[in-house]
Amino acid sequence: MIIAYRQARERMIQEQLVSRGINDPRVLRAMAKVPRHLFLESELWDQAYEDHPLPIGANQTISQPYMVALMAQALELRGAERVLEVGTGSGYAAAVLSELCAEVFTVEAVEELALKARTLLSSLGYRNVSVLVGDGTLGWEEHTPYDAVVISAAAPCIPRPLLEQLKTPGYLVFPMGEKELQTLVRIRKDTAGIREEYLCECQFVKLRGRYGWED
Ligand code: SAH
Repeated sequence: MIIAYRQARERMIQEQLVSRGINDPRVLRAMAKVPRHLFLESELWDQAYEDHPLPIGANQTISQPYMVALMAQALELRGAERVLEVGTGSGYAAAVLSELCAEVFTVEAVEELALKARTLLSSLGYRNVSVLVGDGTLGWEEHTPYDAVVISAAAPCIPRPLLEQLKTPGYLVFPMGEKELQTLVRIRKDTAGIREEYLCECQFVKLRGRYGWED
C-alpha cells in the first residue's frame, strides 16, 4: 500500500508537475516525499494524487498538487527561510513548505481545521511548522518579519499587514481577483518598491477576514 502511494506520487510528479514546468529539484523532492493522502479522509485516499482539489471539511479544499508546487516554486526557497502561510486547511501545503525552508508559520481561520492540521503535522513529525487559529489576513505579528508569504485562498487585493510583515527583499504569492476566478500573483518587495508578476489563472476558495471577502 505504501509503495502504491509512493508510485502514485511519482506519477503525479511526472504527469502533473514536470510536464507543466515545475523544475526546482527541491520542490519536486518535497512533493515526492509528503504523503498527501494522509491529509485527507480515508475515503478519498484513492483520489489523493489526482489532478484536482479535494474537500477537507468545513466547505474548504486541499489545493490541486500542481498549485501547491507552483506556489512553492515561486517563493524560491533555499532552506534557511521563515515562511508565513495563510490558510492552513489540511496542513498539506504547510508540510510541503516545511521541507523547503527552516520554519513555517501557518494561520487558519476555521478552528476545527487548524486543530486537526496541528495534530496531524505533529504526529507526522513536522517539528518546524506552527499553526495558529485566527484571521491570517492580519498576519502573525509574533514571528515577523518573514522571508516569504503565501496565501492559500483567493483575495480581492493585497492584504496590507502581510506585505508589511514581509522582509525586503521578499516574495508574496497569492491568488488575486474575483470570487470565482483569480490570477496567481507574485509580488516582489524590494528597496525600489513593489512589482507584480502574473503566473497563471486559478480558482481558490475565498479568503475571509479583515482584508478578505466579507462574509
Ligand atoms: N493550504 C491548504 C488549502 C487551503 S484552502 C491545504 O494544503 O490543505 C484555504 C483555507 O484558507 C481554508 O481552510 C480556509 O478556512 C482558510 N482561510 C480563509 N480565510 C482565512 C483567513 N482570513 N485566515 C486564515 N485562514 C483563512
